Amino acid sequence: MSLNIGVFAVQGDVEENLVATKTALDELGIKGTVSTVKTPDQIAKLDGIILPGGESTTIGHLSLVNGSLKKIKEKIEAGMPAMGICAGLILLAKEAKDRVVGKMEQPILDLLDVKVERNSFGRQRDSFETDISMESIKISKFKGIFIRAPSIIEVGKNVEVISKLNEKTIAVKQKNILATVFHPELTTDVSMHKYFINMIK
Ligand code: GLN
Repeated sequence: MSLNIGVFAVQGDVEENLVATKTALDELGIKGTVSTVKTPDQIAKLDGIILPGGESTTIGHLSLVNGSLKKIKEKIEAGMPAMGICAGLILLAKEAKDRVVGKMEQPILDLLDVKVERNSFGRQRDSFETDISMESIKISKFKGIFIRAPSIIEVGKNVEVISKLNEKTIAVKQKNILATVFHPELTTDVSMHKYFINMIK
């Protein structure tokens, strides 16, 4: 069996996720293809999808226009594993608001039972790196790269908290959905992508 993994390529750090996922497949010795996807037809054929970081309002609006947002929702509801990173996490969430501006109109998938605060650690200049730990998924040390990152301020009862930083929730899992506020594709350590591939397998 060969896995068909897509990186949603409307906007954001698509290339980095392609490379990290390919490396992770190689390191695991699992057969698969990783490609960029944009259209509902391409999304329909996937076994797993990565929603990369970028600008969630832009990704949301553009994917609403060509129908890909609806197809992603259908597929995830039907059980397809999804990994949402930063803006991708915002897209998956049930509710999102900005730390300063408050509630904004933006298209989101309403699948992950969390409330997200955008720009939770400050704005672009407040981006930072720090070591984090995800014991529950057996990744004890990982470099967390936070770029204008959101945080998760409320989690529903079916959501497992994987990591916290200073009382803020930064990684979660809910059945077939894995989501982080930091950027695992920007480090050379592909453990998070490996974990996601094992979710697909
Ligand atoms: N702050 C961005 C947003 O709200 C997310 C930043 C990122 O993906 N690095 O969409």
